[in-house]
Amino acid sequence: MEFWFDHIGQIWWASLSRETARYAVFAVATWALLWIALKTPLRGRKIREHSPAAGQLLLEFIVSLRSIAIFATVALAQSMMSRAGAYPLTHVALQWGRVWLWASLLLMILGHDAYFYWTHRAMHDRRLFKAFHRRHHRSQNPSPFTAYSFDLGEAAVMASFVVLWPFLVPTPWAVIPLFIVHQIVRNTLAHCGYELMPAMSDGRPLLDWLTTTTHHDLHHAQSDSNFGLYFTWWDRWMKTENPGYHTAFARAAFRADLARVGAPSAWRLGTVSIPRMALAGSDALSSVGLLCLQCFAGGFLFIVGGAFALTVIFA
Ligand SMILES: [Zn+2]
Ligand SMILES: [Zn+2]
Repeated sequence: MEFWFDHIGQIWWASLSRETARYAVFAVATWALLWIALKTPLRGRKIREHSPAAGQLLLEFIVSLRSIAIFATVALAQSMMSRAGAYPLTHVALQWGRVWLWASLLLMILGHDAYFYWTHRAMHDRRLFKAFHRRHHRSQNPSPFTAYSFDLGEAAVMASFVVLWPFLVPTPWAVIPLFIVHQIVRNTLAHCGYELMPAMSDGRPLLDWLTTTTHHDLHHAQSDSNFGLYFTWWDRWMKTENPGYHTAFARAAFRADLARVGAPSAWRLGTVSIPRMALAGSDALSSVGLLCLQCFAGGFLFIVGGAFALTVIFA
């Protein structure tokens, strides 16, 4: 019994430090890269005209630290459960080799996407919204720091997935930090305020099965649609995708072109289709599209690499 409680203070503190470093590095890196360093070349890709006030960013950062304390507490509970032998499937997974390690990472991401969609939808029920999800939606115009700006209940629900999944699916422990890296990268990008996904010449996202920043930005703006996190399929299967999504995406992706040719005065989210003349000469390999492709790929790799380094340093 004593063994279960050995070093619990150190384990909690190590988990807290690791998660705080990961969140701070990703949120600050995304903010510094997009909102400061690339602000001028990416101005045509900014989704909203106005940026949130500095006070909102600071509050989101502080609230996120509270969420991280919940994550660390849940991680400590999982560590104690592991000591008690509650995760036999993690040993099974180790015997299935390296291919299974990557396959189980993919499965975990797919599983989390479904878990997020359904728990997120449940938290939008008016009986649960106030207690679980209101804090996150106070950021009506999100920023990279909104990623972990949760009420206590939502933070606990989000952290519980990592506790539950290895119970159900053979998953090596080494997969968990890789899963968390993917989660924070996608989460931060979803709230970054700039549309970095390159657009096809018809105005649709290059990878339309992935959620984009515009997809989640619309959720913050209207909150009755676009509940998905990584992929668009749950919203499409359940018919909860915002009907104005593709128009809003095209408007964000081609804002510079629309401004150049003059958008129609009736241009409003979801009310008109993309004017063909505005798109003439714009395609996925236009200079801004190429820059966005490079930002998306380079930023993703930079953040994943940084996260991986942090994971190694703090492991
Ligand atoms: Zn959000
Ligand atoms: Zn929501």
